[in-house]
Amino acid sequence: MEKKTQSGKIDTDTFLAQIGNHQNPVTGSINTPLYFSTTYEHPTLGESTGYDYTRTKNPTREVLESALAVLENGTVGLATSSGMSAVQLVFSQFPVGSEIVASRDLYGGSYRYFQELEKQGVYQFIYVDDEAGFETKITDKTTAVFIETPTNPLMSEVSIERIAAISKKHQAQLIVDNTFYTPLIQRPLDLGADIVLHSATKYLGGHNDLLAGAVVARSKEVGAQLAYQLNTTGAVLSPFDSWLLIRGLKTLALRMERHEKNAQAVAKYLQTNAKVKEVLYPGRGGMLSFKINKQEQIKDFLRNLSIFTFAESLGGVESLITYPTTQTHADIPEGLRESYGLTPDLLRISVGIEASEDLIADLKQAFEQLN
Ligand SMILES: *Cc1c(COP(=O)(O)O)cnc(C)c1O
Repeated sequence: MEKKTQSGKIDTDTFLAQIGNHQNPVTGSINTPLYFSTTYEHPTLGESTGYDYTRTKNPTREVLESALAVLENGTVGLATSSGMSAVQLVFSQFPVGSEIVASRDLYGGSYRYFQELEKQGVYQFIYVDDEAGFETKITDKTTAVFIETPTNPLMSEVSIERIAAISKKHQAQLIVDNTFYTPLIQRPLDLGADIVLHSATKYLGGHNDLLAGAVVARSKEVGAQLAYQLNTTGAVLSPFDSWLLIRGLKTLALRMERHEKNAQAVAKYLQTNAKVKEVLYPGRGGMLSFKINKQEQIKDFLRNLSIFTFAESLGGVESLITYPTTQTHADIPEGLRESYGLTPDLLRISVGIEASEDLIADLKQAFEQLN
């Protein structure tokens, strides 16, 4: 993957490693300086250094935001205080009463927020179960379309290009939550989406030590509107967290390569295990889910693991295992969850960057202790 920079075309791996470098002529600092100052001196009346107040613009966050825009190939990048505030920011732009079409299998927190918006009479949501459903559910009444691909936790992919084409035909804005694949595997704006967002808490940050969100817009107009809204409502990323996220991004390419290699090995192992009913892995990225034959053994299985940590979240260097039914997706009503395949025999794994042999050995011994 190639990116244009001032010095010509460089590979994304190079771009990532170099974020913030060559930008500090006074000191030569290779690392992005961390500006904690909330306010900035004005040279004189009517003049500004370009920085006035940190909610509006902060030099550390600015380095991060321009890197995010380059990574997702958009015009404007914004860093928010969490993935949910990124979702909220994107949904701050539509008129009350708008009709939104969304994937059925969504991050539980996004679903909870959409339910809340609907309850308050802000928007009306129409959920779609599979790719074909978008053809019929997106109409001239649709204001925006919100998708995750692959879906969470069922890991099914939809074609962004196809949904972008349908959205465009009906003049609906397409928003993609790209948390699972990151721009290294999939760049939604290049495939026709209008806005891409992330929970940067996951792969972009990558170390389970930072809560953050990212929004990138394709057009300058949408980007300017979102920047205006973010400054108005205030859920910006703090300077220190911006600095941490820059630090995390520098190794994103290395980490994703290893996450994916390990996930492929773990998926292969699980497919041969007689105690596993089904493995859900799209072949790309570091996330996978599987269904266990005997659901009643889940508690023991989780207790038997010693390298995998039973915890929510994903995308960090440490391997985590999640039980979506009671954790990430508990806010989706049981009957609804099960109707689309999120059954209580399903476990989700975020494969870390450890040695894959150790991960497989850990799963193996945890299964072997079950009867
Ligand atoms: C975690 C997550 C979110 C929410 O992000 P936070 O940083 O936890 O607020 C949104 N979308 C997806 C796909 C996620 O995994």
